[in-house]
Order: sequence, then structure tokens, then C-alpha cells
Amino acid sequence: MDGYADEAVRTELESRRTRLAWAAGRGDESGRLRELLAEVDDALARMDAGAYGRCDVCRDPIEHDRLMADPLARTCRDHMSPGEYRALEQDLDLAVRIQAQMLPRHQLAVAGWEVAYHFEPKGPVGGDYCDVIFGETEGVADALLLLGDVSGKGVPASILMANLHATFRTLADVGLPTEALMARANRLFCRSTLDAHYATLVCARATPQGEVDVVNAGHWPVLIAQPDGVRSIGATGLPLGLFCTAEYRHERGALAADDLLVLHTDGLSEARNPTGEEYGTSHLLARLAALVACGERDPHRVLAACLDDLTTFRAGTPLDDDLTLMVVRRTG
Ligand SMILES: [Zn+2]
Repeated sequence: MDGYADEAVRTELESRRTRLAWAAGRGDESGRLRELLAEVDDALARMDAGAYGRCDVCRDPIEHDRLMADPLARTCRDHMSPGEYRALEQDLDLAVRIQAQMLPRHQLAVAGWEVAYHFEPKGPVGGDYCDVIFGETEGVADALLLLGDVSGKGVPASILMANLHATFRTLADVGLPTEALMARANRLFCRSTLDAHYATLVCARATPQGEVDVVNAGHWPVLIAQPDGVRSIGATGLPLGLFCTAEYRHERGALAADDLLVLHTDGLSEARNPTGEEYGTSHLLARLAALVACGERDPHRVLAACLDDLTTFRAGTPLDDDLTLMVVRRTG
């Protein structure tokens, strides 16, 4: 283990020792607490002797995140006991259900907009953030369309995704303009994450009149498909979580009935074919332009056609990241 990780786990162990010693001195369960105290002392002694953090079975280093969650762990993930493995599986099943509950309903059609989306984490849970929040600003009904991508993968990324979900659900009720909303979300995200974590994210506020205010925090371009072609709105600010003082500007678009707004994450644009070529936003843009030229405007059919195009392109190459695609049509 490197010095920093060692120090973090030692601090965690010492703090547990203090709490255990305090509890053991007063409760009825002092027998079990004393056993735990002995395990903590043993771990600290192994740390002093340089023998801490190695798997009892294979002698490989135990994963750092596993030690941070349980500094008394004695095996790597590959050599967990059947009981530990079952507990991990149950936690993961629960995480999948919690993440599913944070997604918007399918078949959403409110305030002059119809939303279709596809959410496909690479593992059981992922770090893509996808939400649609209906509300009102200064008495006018609107919809906040949100799509983002948290750095990292798997369970740690899904926890940060849940953090973003709660942040935007809370801030949406305050009625801030989009750029102020993003600046506030960035400050909250900066304070609640580790240094190395960030999220790219698009927040678009859509009104029933067809106006769309887009703030793009370092995310892939927002595509707007209209009869005369597809245009894109690139980044209007930095990803969330990099600098607490980051500011954001918005770009405004006007959509007529049947115009489409399309958002995606890098599971789509960074997907590769067997020769290693990237799908890229350009393939998506070309497919969208072709669909619009044929008069196709149903967001569910557009979504399915774009995903089919991606599947054909990949020709069996597995996805390397979480994939989310959202297609929104102005209905009225
Ligand atoms: Zn092992």
C-alpha cells in the first residue's frame, strides 16, 4: 500500500479503537466488543510490522476501497468467505433496485415535451445520471432535462450519481435560472466529493413554448434536430466538482413542434467497432440527420433506431462504459 492509503486506513482503525474502548467500558455486550478491540489491536500491530493489508489466502494486496470500508478485512475480494460474498451480492442487488428507482418513468409526456431514454450501466450499477424533473419557474410550467456522467465506474460512481440526483431534486424546487442552478450544484458537489471525482453534465430547462436553456458542464454536445439539419451545443462551463468557484453560461435554443433534442453519454460516443474505431458524436449526428430527413419524429422510434445503428457499428464489441441516450420531442 502507498503511504497515503496506509495513513487513511490507520486513522480509520485508530478512530474505531477509541469508539470501541469507550463502548466496551459501559455496555452489556462488552465480551464481543473486547474481541473486536483485540482484532483492531492486532491489525494495528500488523501495520507497524508492515504485514497489514495482504490477503491471508493469496498474499496479494487487499483492495484499498475494501480496507477503507472494513479495515479488519483479511482477504482480497477474490478470496472472500461464502458469507461475505453473499452479503456483497445482497448489497449489490439492493443498489441496483435503488438506482432503478432514481430513473425517470418511461413514457414521459408533460408540459409540451415527450421523453424517451435508454439507460444501460456497464455493470449492475453505473455512474450515468439521468433525470427529468417537472416543475415551474416564476409560475411557468417547465421540465428540467438532466443527463450526466460521473468519473469512475461501478458502485462508487453510482453513489456519486445518487448524490447528483438528490442535489438537483432539491435545487429544482428553488426556481433558480439554469446557470445559477448549475453553479450551486457545482459548489455542493465540490464539497461532498473527493478531489479526484468530477461529473460532466447537461442541464436543459424546456418550457411549453419550446424554449430550451442549455447549460453544458463539460459534457458531450447537446444535439438539436430540426427539419433543416442537426446543430449542436458544446460545453458552456467546466465539469462539476473541479473548481468550487466555476461559473456557467447558458445557450438558448427554440424548438418547434416535432423538433428533437438528443443527449448522450460516452458509453455511446466512445463505443468501438472490432477495428478500434470510435462511434463518436459524428455517427449519432449523421443517423439523426437521416432519420429527421425521412420525417421520423417519434422519440421512442428515433431512440431505437439510434441504438440499432450503434449495435450494428459495434458488431459484437462489448461496451466499455455506462451508456445513456435520451431523445426528447417537442409535442405542441
Ligand atoms: Zn486473495
